[in-house]
Amino acid sequence: MNPIKSFTVDHDKLLPGLYISREDGDATTYDLRTRRPNSGDYMDNLTMHSVEHLFATFIRNGEYADRILYFGPMGCQTGFYLIVRSLSPEKVKKEIFRVLQEILLYQGPMPGGTRKECGNFANLSMEAGKSECRRYLNELMKRKVDFQYEV
Ligand SMILES: [Zn+2]
Repeated sequence: MNPIKSFTVDHDKLLPGLYISREDGDATTYDLRTRRPNSGDYMDNLTMHSVEHLFATFIRNGEYADRILYFGPMGCQTGFYLIVRSLSPEKVKKEIFRVLQEILLYQGPMPGGTRKECGNFANLSMEAGKSECRRYLNELMKRKVDFQYEV
């Protein structure tokens, strides 16, 4: 079998950041890498699940709601995938910053945080979600984002 494209990235060189993982027609998959891979430092499920609820809700309520195809955590616990249709990388980057900043300021209840709305509603934490968003925002502000994996 052929390896899928995301397996061809050298994960030992990958730092936290924002990358373009793949492009399929007008759909672009972004790699929102919050943690350095294979460093022993992984998100737990509570953190991934909480960020998933918060980020998906905020980005799907934003200016580009109709261009957001998917947001969800990577199984390796070091980041998230965001799939966006017909939007420039610079606009996606700005939108990601806006979403992260709004999550940090948000004071309401966890979106989708009830038994009816979620398959594991007890496994959600505003503090865990915000903490990962704060950490990722700091990582993004530390470095130049050019969307390219280091080769
Ligand atoms: Zn859920």
